[in-house]
Amino acid sequence: MEELFLSRNFKIENGHTLPVYESGGGYQRLKKALNMDSATIIDEVKKSNLRGRGGAGFPTGVKWGFMPKESELPKYLTVNADEGEPGTFKDRYIMELDPHLLIEGCIITAWTLGLRYGYIYVRGELQFAIRRLEAAIKEAYAKGYLGQKIQGKDFDFDLYVHPSGGAYICGEETGMIEGLEGKPGQPRMKPPFPAVVGAFNAPTLVNNVETIAAIPWIIERGGEWWASMGIEKNGGPKLYGLSGHIKKPGVYEAPSGVSVRELLEDYGGGMLDGSDLKGYIPGGSSCRVMLPDTLDALMGFESMREAGSSLGTGCITFMDHTTCMVRIAGRLAHFYHHESCGQCTPCREGSGWATKVLDQIENGNGRMEDLDLLLDICDNIEGNTICALGDSISIPVRSYVELFTQEFEDHIRRKGCPFPAWSLRSSASTRAEAVAGAE
Ligand code: SF4
Repeated sequence: MEELFLSRNFKIENGHTLPVYESGGGYQRLKKALNMDSATIIDEVKKSNLRGRGGAGFPTGVKWGFMPKESELPKYLTVNADEGEPGTFKDRYIMELDPHLLIEGCIITAWTLGLRYGYIYVRGELQFAIRRLEAAIKEAYAKGYLGQKIQGKDFDFDLYVHPSGGAYICGEETGMIEGLEGKPGQPRMKPPFPAVVGAFNAPTLVNNVETIAAIPWIIERGGEWWASMGIEKNGGPKLYGLSGHIKKPGVYEAPSGVSVRELLEDYGGGMLDGSDLKGYIPGGSSCRVMLPDTLDALMGFESMREAGSSLGTGCITFMDHTTCMVRIAGRLAHFYHHESCGQCTPCREGSGWATKVLDQIENGNGRMEDLDLLLDICDNIEGNTICALGDSISIPVRSYVELFTQEFEDHIRRKGCPFPAWSLRSSASTRAEAVAGAE
């Protein structure tokens, strides 16, 4: 893409500060929005085909339409910044390098839906992002963009940063709300949905960081313009985090509907020298793994589903021929077992059983019947839990067993792993290289 929107300030010196943000047109979109009515703004967001960028892909304008107009309790905005999905690392760059874009999006959202308080619920480990956000919020208060009578309007909005306690499950919207209320992050049964009963029992909008960061641009140039940079039902440019055995790992901005091949070859520089692509995870570890013959799939919610997986967060992990798929499945199972909040038996126990069976196969103690056992465990988890974490175990594990059956059988026959212990090769990426477009 020639012009950048979500990552425009990433490489501008001091792009995280208010003077630099304002010099590029920052907060002009807020001033424009303050002269628009709620229905018009929601209509623009609907026209934009903006979908939730946290992985679920729910149409943002429709979600906004669920918020009640009137409420006896103050209404809340909670920005899900608890970015913890393995392989996903895009929202942190917005928070660290362009925090005012997110803050401006929060204020416009609050104006549109009559929200009184906002919380940016940030993964606790992202201390740099937390510090940057806190400093930016302070600047915004000082300039009258936050607080009372914002820009002279009858509009009060306060915004806070809330560090997460470090549990993956707080990235689930109701787990996050529980965490925000000071309780263990255990997801709630739905309904009621947060738009009706959310934080502190009040109507609450939950949106992802990248979703909210898109709002100022939609206000500036209109919903149809945003939709034009995408494919049907998937509008706008998007941030893609690329990692694994590739030459140029990083966060890149490209239109919705770009192909996986373009992302790998044109943005990621292709596979490392001597590496052959064996499989890739399209949008975070809870997605089904995909084979190289699907590289022409387009990065949209429907298109990735048709190709056999899901878009998720759009952060792709590419794995080469040295990767042991049994070990990958086992690591994912360990992760989700560790992060299970324990409320649902299929998730709590099933994730542990899957972990043990996968470890047995990897360590040379597997039996052929274990493959059916793994699929049976997945069957019993899927759809039988309070939140999607259960499916986050069963969906990927099933895909590794189904797509790499031969490799699982080889482990069992040979009584051990045929790959070297170091098969997860480093692509020598550094954090600096991961900043958008860095060479
Ligand atoms: Fe907790 Fe797992 Fe049930 Fe989600 S599916 S509520 S993480 S036990």
